[in-house]
Amino acid sequence: MKIAFFDTKPYDERFFNEILNEYNFKIKYFENKLNEDTVSLAKGYDVVCVFVNDTLNKAVIDTLHDGGTELIAMRCAGYNNVDFEASHGKVHVVRVPAYSPYAVAEHAAALMVTLNRKTHRAYNRTRESNFNINGLLGFDLHGKTLGVIGTGKIGQILCNIGKGYGMRVLSYDKFPNKSLNLEYTDLDTLYKESDVISLHCPLLIETHHMINKESMNKMKDGVMLINTSRGGLVDAESLIEAIKTRKIGSAGLDVYEEESDYFFEDFSDEIITDDILARLLSFNNVLVTSHQAFFTKEALSNIAKTTLDNIKAFARKEELVNEICSICGKK
Ligand code: NAD
Repeated sequence: MKIAFFDTKPYDERFFNEILNEYNFKIKYFENKLNEDTVSLAKGYDVVCVFVNDTLNKAVIDTLHDGGTELIAMRCAGYNNVDFEASHGKVHVVRVPAYSPYAVAEHAAALMVTLNRKTHRAYNRTRESNFNINGLLGFDLHGKTLGVIGTGKIGQILCNIGKGYGMRVLSYDKFPNKSLNLEYTDLDTLYKESDVISLHCPLLIETHHMINKESMNKMKDGVMLINTSRGGLVDAESLIEAIKTRKIGSAGLDVYEEESDYFFEDFSDEIITDDILARLLSFNNVLVTSHQAFFTKEALSNIAKTTLDNIKAFARKEELVNEICSICGKK
């Protein structure tokens, strides 16, 4: 199997190379993201291995198919960037459905605790020998209500973390899991009663911009919003307005709808031309991280192993247990 690996970072090479000798594959690592301009690099490769911000639209998929690629191995869980109608009957698409739900849930918790106790600002102050704590006032999480939207693998771990803090945990899921000991409610009640709201549902047509002006108006004044799921769940322009009016008290964003132009890259010598992102970065009560919630050693090891196992199963013509159905986009 010849694998073209796109959007490669040093940590990808490290974790894939560590176990590559257990498989009979050749990997060519490309730093470029996969898109219409770079897809020609994949010509002649059996497999392309891609990540969250690679482009898998019809034009790219058709070119991959014409170039002999038979498998798209996503080294991530989310697959909202794949055009399934285009891939149907042309290429198989596999993913890594779970690599460390703890990594993501713990990062969501880190954003919540940091924003509340303002340790991101305290760090900067004390480095400048400013020991004034004015403006760093937080609140006890204990006794507050955490609203978790989406109680799949990640959301349910965050529910347990919230309970560990002594929070009341309210949950909403389109498909509630009765086997979990959770207090499920409707979305409007969750919006109305939560002090912190964390998003853990997938980005679908029905969830696109679910956090918008209307839904934010249903929330408590000063609510904290955490998004480690997908940027498209939040209408960022409305979020900015809600932060300006103090409807939203703070926001922890590991994802951003237009992140693919910026996240994972160093722009410290450049000018940010995305005014929405720049405005979000300007607020002292908004904490943006660069899609790093998954970024733990355990998660990277699991991603490498499951991705290579997916490719091995394909090479051996075995059942693709992690294939995403090319018609409905679900597994
Ligand atoms: P999962 O499939 O285990 O859980 C998703 C849950 O959302 C399910 O319980 C499902 O029933 C529910 N759901 C589906 N449609 C819904 C709707 N309309 N409203 C409310 N709930 C709905 O997924 P997971 O592994 O917990 O991952 C959740 C999301 O986290 C993924 O979709 C992915 O986009 C994101 N993610 C982000 C990172 C990161 O590094 N930031 C890493 C991994 C995953």
